[in-house]
Amino acid sequence: MNDPIVDCIIVGGGPAGLTAALYLARFRRSTVVIDDGQSRASLIPVVRNLAGFESGINGNALLAKMRRQIECYDVPLVEGRVTTITRTHGGFLVEYRSTSGPSSRSLAARHVLLACGIRDKLPPIDDAIALTQEGLLRFCAICDGFEAQGKRIAMLGPASRALSHALFFPHLLSAGGGHRLR
Ligand SMILES: Cc1cc2nc3c(=O)[nH]c(=O)nc-3n(C[C@H](O)[C@H](O)[C@H](O)COP(=O)(O)OP(=O)(O)OC[C@H]3O[C@@H](n4cnc5c(N)ncnc54)[C@H](O)[C@@H]3O)c2cc1C
Repeated sequence: MNDPIVDCIIVGGGPAGLTAALYLARFRRSTVVIDDGQSRASLIPVVRNLAGFESGINGNALLAKMRRQIECYDVPLVEGRVTTITRTHGGFLVEYRSTSGPSSRSLAARHVLLACGIRDKLPPIDDAIALTQEGLLRFCAICDGFEAQGKRIAMLGPASRALSHALFFPHLLSAGGGHRLR
């Protein structure tokens, strides 16, 4: 624990954590991102609702671009899993396990920003992750509804949620002027 105390440790290097890192770096705050590489964004075949990417962008490609952007500001991106955060007199002590080895390490920071995201509860079907990456299994009517127009869709989930989505979908797709993508 000989490292100097940094202004902020961000736990999580998905889109939220990387955006926070960009802002903090531009505010000239010393910042470290610790991420264990499980971003939900890495499962997205093509993000189509992000302004500025008219052909869409793959989730991993988006993450790589965001990482490159914070590297321009020399923000360290540590590969590891944060295991403990302890309050100290001057801020926090963050312990993490490096993904490249079993040893535990720690860093001190004045502030800690949690950008850990959430974990999806995948349905108990074979190859659920591969099917998701191929875009055959989808999680979000808002992200994917537009592309599902005219397709045959099965809703999977507890009855209350699956039925409410089944009712929401036709409403979503018949709303407004019925825009099409050129
Ligand atoms: C299949 C799928 C398709 C999607 N499609 C779209 C889309 O088209 N458009 C759209 O806008 N959104 C889409 N989303 C949602 C989008 O992926 C999420 O909204 C976004 O990834 C959330 O970003 P985040 O940074 O909050 O969390 P995440 O991206 O999940 O990142 C959190 C990070 O924190 C890390 N972490 C957690 N705990 C720790 C710890 N203790 N120590 C170190 N690291 C930790 C995780 O490993 C992860 O890397 C989709 C999601 C899925 C699953």
